[in-house]
Amino acid sequence: MSFLPGQFVFINFEALGLEEKHPFTISSAPTFKELRISVKALGDYTVKLNQLKDGMIANVWGPYGRFYKGMSDETKDVVMIAGGIGITPFLSMLNNELTKNLKRKIWLYYGASSTEDAVYDTEISAIEEKLTNLNYFRHFGGIKPRVSVNVLKEKLGELSNKLFYICGPTIMMENLSEQLIKNGVKRKNIIMEDFAFK
Ligand SMILES: Cc1cc2nc3c(=O)[nH]c(=O)nc-3n(C[C@H](O)[C@H](O)[C@H](O)COP(=O)(O)OP(=O)(O)OC[C@H]3O[C@@H](n4cnc5c(N)ncnc54)[C@H](O)[C@@H]3O)c2cc1C
Repeated sequence: MSFLPGQFVFINFEALGLEEKHPFTISSAPTFKELRISVKALGDYTVKLNQLKDGMIANVWGPYGRFYKGMSDETKDVVMIAGGIGITPFLSMLNNELTKNLKRKIWLYYGASSTEDAVYDTEISAIEEKLTNLNYFRHFGGIKPRVSVNVLKEKLGELSNKLFYICGPTIMMENLSEQLIKNGVKRKNIIMEDFAFK
């Protein structure tokens, strides 16, 4: 499937009796041989995915979404802010950056309620070793304060010349985007993906 990092698919697993299509972001890069999704078990559907076995068929529709807007401007510095399972689009984006040789700076702020919940920290740490233009900041429960504009300003300096990608709980995205706008960031430079089903 041809897709851009940041996009999502609808998927179902008839072998598990899961005929309803649910949306999940693609967490692999377009160059991967496999299409990967990364799922947080929340309710009936996602908990049942633990029963998946090799060889079961997944039906996939897509790709959908526009959580890549602006990424093609490879000269613009990028700030990625993830809350919990909101890390999934950034896994695709960062793995994709590894295949390029771009000069743009990337800052990733990964917030999770605990170190155990930050399941992709290891993968990102490995990417960080190779991607010299990536600045990675962990905000795992209790270790550091939550990501706020004041926290961002410490490392980013000027905010208004950067692109902000935010994916996490709705309340976090609303608060952050409001604060960013108050600090001179244009609304069009704030791109958000809401996992809440409306
Ligand atoms: C664009 C997008 C991308 C997403 N990407 C990811 C991802 O990469 N990883 C991940 O873990 N989750 C992702 N989600 C969230 C994921 O789709 C839901 O957590 C999951 O569908 C909930 O299913 P459930 O029945 O297990 O949970 P439930 O507890 O039954 O539902 C949890 C929440 O999901 C809502 N929901 C119920 N049915 C559906 C449905 N058919 N489709 C969507 N939501 C529904 C409920 O209203 C409830 O708010 C994404 C959601 C969207 C909209």
